[in-house]
Amino acid sequence: MEQQVCPVCGYDELEEPPQDFSICPACGTEFGYDDFSMTREELRRRWLERGAPWFSTHTPTPPRWDPVRQLAQLLTPREEPDRRES
Ligand SMILES: [Zn+2]
Repeated sequence: MEQQVCPVCGYDELEEPPQDFSICPACGTEFGYDDFSMTREELRRRWLERGAPWFSTHTPTPPRWDPVRQLAQLLTPREEPDRRES
């Protein structure tokens, strides 16, 4: 199964694809709703300005959850071995 990554905060254990009103438990973005009225960059900034809190009360905060590291992984271009362009 493909890993689902939140495009706003980089949380990479989403249970559903980031669409169709699923909600990221980390940043609380409701996909298809919040990211319809605001850009993902705006949503990310808003989340960071609140101090990047864990959103969900239903899903417990993962024990080693690190919002800064997660976001860094999202924003750092990954190496793509298949790519031929230099
Ligand atoms: Zn998120």
